[in-house]
Amino acid sequence: MSLLTTPAIVLGSIKLGEADKLVTFFTAKKGKLKGVAKGARRVKSRFGASLEPFTHCNLVVFEKPGDKLARVNQSDIVHSFQKLRENWGEIHLASHMAHLVQRMTPEGEQNLLVYRLLLEGLTFLERGADPELSTLLFVVRLVSFSGYQPRWDRCLKCHRPMGERIYFSPADGGTVCTQCAHGPLATISQGTLAFLRASQKMDYTVAHRLKPSPAMRSEIRTIFGQHMTYITGMPAPAWAAEAPSAPSRS
Ligand SMILES: [Zn+2]
Repeated sequence: MSLLTTPAIVLGSIKLGEADKLVTFFTAKKGKLKGVAKGARRVKSRFGASLEPFTHCNLVVFEKPGDKLARVNQSDIVHSFQKLRENWGEIHLASHMAHLVQRMTPEGEQNLLVYRLLLEGLTFLERGADPELSTLLFVVRLVSFSGYQPRWDRCLKCHRPMGERIYFSPADGGTVCTQCAHGPLATISQGTLAFLRASQKMDYTVAHRLKPSPAMRSEIRTIFGQHMTYITGMPAPAWAAEAPSAPSRS
């Protein structure tokens, strides 16, 4: 039996038995971690409140070698992100972020880049300047930080520089030229490629100054949706299927 104390973010939970919860966290020290929280669903439990989705907490869990599930011993709220659970639009985007982290990361592997990104992503959603752009920038970075950065620099099949028309090939993990593109592949415009390159050289905060058009946002959803589907072997994430909305609030 070993004790782990770590900052964590709640990704989601399901009910377990009469009063318990099975909670999935993304922790700073051990990446994705699942734990059983006994008594977490009792009325007015402070413990239960600290395990609401998106909550940033300080977590203490017991782990037993050979057991897939840890036991959640204690959880103290650092920041509740309560605002994200009060508005449907924000619940929705924050849920996309949490689901994509669940989907793209293995259990028990530390990834501080993803941990910090998730915290930043939720913080930006809470501020709410352009939540849809925050989510888009989040996804592009999450894919890269999970080790699946697509290659954009040349055709991945013939290695020649790209011509006018550029296609995205999920099976090759990046761009292919007109001659090498077989089957129905999504196209990427020069503008979208320029946005992707520029945004990844900037930090997350500065990248919010970029203003991709609705058409570019739509292309990025398609390409990254296909890329994540190919990597995980799971159906396209709900995020990729949604039409981009106009920036809300200012
Ligand atoms: Zn080619």
